Amino acid sequence: MSDSTVAAKPPVNWVTAILFATTFAVAVTVVPWYGIVHGYSATAWVFFFVFLAANGFSITAGYHRLWAHRTYEAHWSVRLVFMIFGAMALQNSILIWATDHRRHHRFVDDNDADPYSAKRGFWFSHIGWMLRFYESGKQDFSNGKDLQADPLVRFQHRFYVPIVLVTNVGFPLAIGWMAGDLWGVFLLAGVLRLVLNHHFTFFINSLAHIWGTQPYNDNNTARDNPVLAFLTYGEGYHNFHHIFDRDYRNAVRWWQWDPTKWLICSLSWVGLTRKLQKVPDVTIERARLAMQFKRAQAALDRKRIRGLQLPQVDALRERVAREYESFQATLAEWSRLRDEWYANTRQRMAQRWEEASFRTQAREIRYRLRMQRRRMRLLIAQIPSPQPAA
Ligand SMILES: [Zn+2]
Ligand SMILES: [Zn+2]
Repeated sequence: MSDSTVAAKPPVNWVTAILFATTFAVAVTVVPWYGIVHGYSATAWVFFFVFLAANGFSITAGYHRLWAHRTYEAHWSVRLVFMIFGAMALQNSILIWATDHRRHHRFVDDNDADPYSAKRGFWFSHIGWMLRFYESGKQDFSNGKDLQADPLVRFQHRFYVPIVLVTNVGFPLAIGWMAGDLWGVFLLAGVLRLVLNHHFTFFINSLAHIWGTQPYNDNNTARDNPVLAFLTYGEGYHNFHHIFDRDYRNAVRWWQWDPTKWLICSLSWVGLTRKLQKVPDVTIERARLAMQFKRAQAALDRKRIRGLQLPQVDALRERVAREYESFQATLAEWSRLRDEWYANTRQRMAQRWEEASFRTQAREIRYRLRMQRRRMRLLIAQIPSPQPAA
């Protein structure tokens, strides 16, 4: 146990604590009561969903993938929208949010340096870290020089409170007044929207580090979870995100739910976003296969594997070893191909046929790795999982 968890609890952050507690209390009492007694207008429902989505995407595409990770560049008009509706989500200024988040990635699971370390439990990583002035959550902008150089980020940080008040109180009341449903719009599009957006985002720091699979990496607690991805506009593919945080995508398969990626990508078609960063497919396949070998090895290293005789275990070990050899050979071929390609492009403009040939070979390597991943999946399925002790 680290010192920070043993030491006396730091003072409560009353502003945050009261804000979270009252908005949550209103959302679970007054909001349903008002709905039963008075009913909500269509306008209230429409703006509830519009603001929920606007806040959600401003956090995921703006605060997270644009400002915290710099995975793409965006036109000032897009940044302006993300800045306003991100402030409305009431998760602090871009500068504070993104510098905290960069520390979370850099020191993930380190109880003293990760502001919302999942190793300190569900409650702490979900919301507890904001309720007290913890040492691990101390404001530190030293990793945010690029953010401080951005006038829009500086403006939002300086005028954060007025922007928050105008968007959270002014917007819903003005719309409600115009629609003749002042309290209805305020409760749904103001309060309920805020509380849902808060907890959906907080799930990424808590549940996405507890519940789900680890297909790419198990050096930290981050998990891939399609249920959370649905609630968080694609951010639930958190295991992928922690290993490839320079990628503008969080989900890489076409069938995985990542509307934030779709938004960033479609904005690029009309010139509003550019320089979208992507990790090469071979690198992603390599990470997945490396995890499979790690799992297979750990399963076969057990002293006794119930349901398997020693010769069967030896035969499986032999097969895994052969697969590993072929994996290493494919990787060596990939690095040779890449070196050749870089040398070629450095010397002179690459010929078109050379480029085509490079792409064909790269595609072939990716295909081989993908086939090997399928074989490994079948192989791992033949090793019975450990039985709980009787
Ligand atoms: Zn991140
Ligand atoms: Zn995380």
